[in-house]
Order: sequence, then structure tokens, then C-alpha cells
Amino acid sequence: MNFKRVIVLCSLIVLVGSFFACTKRVQEPSGMKKLKVITTLFPIYDMAKKIGEDKADVSLLLPPGVEAHSFEPKPSDIVKINEADVFVYTGKFMEPWAEDVIKGAGNKNLIVVDASRGTTMIPGVFHDADEPAGSLDPHIWLDFDNARIMVKNIVQAFQLKDAANRDFYEQKANDYSTKLTELDDLYKKTLATCREKKIVYGGHYAFGYLAKRYGLKYLAAQGVSPDAEPTANDLIKLVEQIKKDKIKYVYYEELTSPKIAETIAGETQTKMLLLNAAHNLSRDQIDQGISFFDILHRDLDNLRVGLECK
Ligand SMILES: [Zn+2]
Repeated sequence: MNFKRVIVLCSLIVLVGSFFACTKRVQEPSGMKKLKVITTLFPIYDMAKKIGEDKADVSLLLPPGVEAHSFEPKPSDIVKINEADVFVYTGKFMEPWAEDVIKGAGNKNLIVVDASRGTTMIPGVFHDADEPAGSLDPHIWLDFDNARIMVKNIVQAFQLKDAANRDFYEQKANDYSTKLTELDDLYKKTLATCREKKIVYGGHYAFGYLAKRYGLKYLAAQGVSPDAEPTANDLIKLVEQIKKDKIKYVYYEELTSPKIAETIAGETQTKMLLLNAAHNLSRDQIDQGISFFDILHRDLDNLRVGLECK
């Protein structure tokens, strides 16, 4: 074999080699393509992430620490939704903007999941005259029967979009639902033993579902959205109620200034405890990998203290 032929042969090997290398590189990402999922709120983000695990690329539209009720998507968020395989939102009472975004979406392959489909909703409590009449309480994830239905709605979309991993998603969704049932049992068992049956909340009306489910009374300073300031009259009524019932703790909400709870606590010499409705996480909590279950377990710890349960 002369020198020239060796060169030609070697070049050919290199060429063929790079052809296969290229083909392989092209094939690999498509073979391992993850389901692209956009979610609007932390509870559905947590559900979708645990169901999809390494087979889905799940992102949360809400930036860290942002108040969920006043959130509206930016044009870049709408682009993200358009490029996704699955878009999951809580429901029209939590994200009133979602229906318009879906109507305007150019991506006809996008599967849209209204997580509230099939859930049992309760009327909202509104302190603000601007709230649309007939609106329902959007905090459906704080009733664990509803949370299980939300998991089912999400897994069905995953299975439709990625049938090859159908069984995998089914298993993960079942695991999540089992954990919800265990949490529900723990809430039932614990909250049945409380001396105090009233939750006083220096925030918006987020725990109506939870209170109803476990036979508690829920008194909140604001309506279902934290946008409106409580009226002086609302605060006076709450303070009177606390004094009359000799309530010892007032709860404050996550990610906003606890000034309403501080005012009530100052007027009534009560102590303050956090009750986190899990709308969103702070940057620190995201870095720590806090889960929906972590938040709900801590809430139960604080309810146990504040309501004097066993
Ligand atoms: Zn809320």
C-alpha cells in the first residue's frame, strides 16, 4: 500500500467515523428527549416533577418568591408555554389569564391540563367588592382528595404525550397519591385531637378547604386574594373574636410581609406561627429542594402547637 492510498484510506475512515459520530449525536438527544412541561403554581410543579422524574423537564412559571394571585405571564412566558409539550395550570379561578393564553397558543400539539377538572370546589370568601361574583375558592390543592384528582389529571397528559413511558408515569403518580393519603390520615388523626378548633389567619382566605376537611373553623383577615387590604372593621372583628375565645396563636402567611398578623398579635398578646399555603417557594427553599409534603408536614406541626392538639 503506497503512502497516498494510506492517506486516502485514513481520511475515509475519519470521514465514516465522523459520519457515524454525527448520526449518533443526532440520534441521542431525540432518543432521550424529555417531556417539556410548564406549570403555573408550586403544588402542580411538585406533582409534575415527581411524576415525570428524569423523563420530564418540568419548570415553574412563577419566579421564586413571587405572590401567585397577582402574577401575570410575560411575553417570554407565553413563548415558553408555546414551546412545551404539556402546560398545566391550577384552574381558571387561580390563573384567570390561562384561558386567553391557551386560545392564543399557536402550538397545536400542546396538551393543556386544567388541574381542577373533576375536583370539588367550594365558594370563595371575598372581602373585596371587585372580586367577580360566583368565583370559587382556587386553593384546591389544600384538600387532599382534590390533590389526588390533580395528580390523575397530570399523569393522563404525560401518558398521552409519551406513551412509551406510560407505566413509569403510572407508578410515580400512584406513589404520589399514596403519600397524599398518608398525609391526609395524619392530618385527620392529629386535628381530631385539638383543644382549639379555630384557625385565625392574618392573611388571605387560603385554608378554607383544609379547615372544612378537618372540621375546623377558619377566620382570615382577607378574602381569597391577598391583593386587597383588610378593612379596619374586619380586623376589629377578628381581634374581638380572639379575645372572646381566648385564642393563643395567630397564623401568618408565606412570602408576604406578616404585618397584618403582627397587628392582630400586638392587639391580642397572641403568638405568631407560620401556615404556608404552598403557592410558591422562595429562592432558598428551591435551593434546599423543599417539597409540597415538607411544607404540609411543617404546617401540621404548627397547627398542632397553635390549636393544642395531641
Ligand atoms: Zn392564595
